[in-house]
Amino acid sequence: MLTRELTYKKAFEIKNNALKQKIARRDMLLNAAYSTNPRLLEIDRELSSIGAQLAITALSGNSEKVAVLKAKSVAVSKEKSAILKKEMVPEIEYDCPLCKDSGYLGGKICDCVKKLAAQVILDDLKKQMPLDDCTFESFNLNYYSKDGENPRKRMTYILKLCKEYVDSFNPENAQNLLFMGSPGLGKTHLTMAIVSGVVEKGYMPFYGPAETLFSLASSERFSGENKGGYNAMLDCDLLVIDDLGTEYVNEFSRSVLYNLINSRLLSKKPTIINTNLTMKEIADRYGERIVSRLIGGYNANKFIGNDVRQQKSLEENRGI
Ligand SMILES: [Zn+2]
Repeated sequence: MLTRELTYKKAFEIKNNALKQKIARRDMLLNAAYSTNPRLLEIDRELSSIGAQLAITALSGNSEKVAVLKAKSVAVSKEKSAILKKEMVPEIEYDCPLCKDSGYLGGKICDCVKKLAAQVILDDLKKQMPLDDCTFESFNLNYYSKDGENPRKRMTYILKLCKEYVDSFNPENAQNLLFMGSPGLGKTHLTMAIVSGVVEKGYMPFYGPAETLFSLASSERFSGENKGGYNAMLDCDLLVIDDLGTEYVNEFSRSVLYNLINSRLLSKKPTIINTNLTMKEIADRYGERIVSRLIGGYNANKFIGNDVRQQKSLEENRGI
């Protein structure tokens, strides 16, 4: 389970380790160059002596002498660079020239660290989900027929809704989505695509099947594990509760669900819920007050059509 702190801690570790390796490699080459070029050590002594003289001369206000010393310093530095170049000691090539791989720019976390943090989140999610297979591009509308209530038309609309959701995503004003419908109609697929898109935009989602989220909350509450997990669900930029209704329900999970939904509505933070249940079944399982929050605060969309997973496995069996 990744909290915001942990994610950034990992991102900074990756950044610092990469820089350390670069410095260590350069130091090795540098040591070799110093051992074969005694002139380098002399230059270093000259440079520090010039530096000391410059400091004293600058205080005395003798600008002519300052200029002479500066010119001397530049010349000696050039000589040093030339020797290092000849000895093939490279300048450090930073991955991010902006922050020189320090990870900070003007007192703020640099974008390069945010990108790394996104990668950390994606890698973590990929352990749970086939994220790479669940993209908007790989969502195949051909599996939805145009007959009867025209699932194709409905799903074309929902796909567009999801793409626009990512394009305009901002945790301060994104809407809450409730995806309903039978299993195998692509709810998780589209939600995964939203999660990837939101991560790539630099935001921090928290994804989990309802069962996992409730058990994280429960182990934090009752056995002190996964500390910070529940707060991460409350505070993340986008909470995704997948597969609501397939888990075992008890008083505790009911209250966790209500608190998550209600607190995030109050703090205006977006949530996406996927469920195979109808509103009536949600009411029966979790209570009317949850349904009233969902009706009042969520954009509900029903997925329709024939089970895509079944269609795919039929195709595979037929060798298509
Ligand atoms: Zn940077």
